[in-house]
Amino acid sequence: MKIGVFALQGAFAEHRTVLQRLGVASCEIRQRADLDGSCDGYILPGGESTVIGKLLHELNLQQPLEELIDRDIPVFGTCAGLLLLAKEVTGKEPTYLAKMDIEAKRNAYGRQLGSFAAKAPFAGIGEIPMVFIRAPYIVKTFGSAQALATLNGKIVAAKQGNLLVTAFHPELTDDTRVHAYFLDMVRRAAQIAS
Ligand code: GLN
Repeated sequence: MKIGVFALQGAFAEHRTVLQRLGVASCEIRQRADLDGSCDGYILPGGESTVIGKLLHELNLQQPLEELIDRDIPVFGTCAGLLLLAKEVTGKEPTYLAKMDIEAKRNAYGRQLGSFAAKAPFAGIGEIPMVFIRAPYIVKTFGSAQALATLNGKIVAAKQGNLLVTAFHPELTDDTRVHAYFLDMVRRAAQIAS
């Protein structure tokens, strides 16, 4: 198994460290040639959604990534990655890949003081630590997206088919269970495809 981590901006190195701890190979996706179909799943990290979204478009990565998602290749988006995958973003904010049936609110906890840590239950895992950095939350799911975790009544993780999103940064904690959850999705998708 190999996971491609989009390395355009943001917290991509931390995701690779977690994958390494779980014994899974990964590579960095920086240009069109890196999306050669050799990965079983992809991670869109946190960072700045406007910057990553612009680079995806400018580097001609957006369309091939959309095609991978349409082929049910698993993709895990954290924080900015969640915003990139959302079909709707509250207010006048742009959408990017627009593949997941969620409405996300950007900088939903406030811009400057919006960073904090919390603990909450994650469906199928149990209570996990969550680190939020100028995070979005999910205002609502619709269609076939399902909430996996809520914090103070706000949805902070969701799944739809082979798409997984968290508003928080599991790669910034010592707890590898959300990545292991994604890797299970990747293994199942690979089994179905073979
Ligand atoms: N506030 C950022 C955005 O709008 C997301 C923050 C993060 O990824 N930690 O893209």
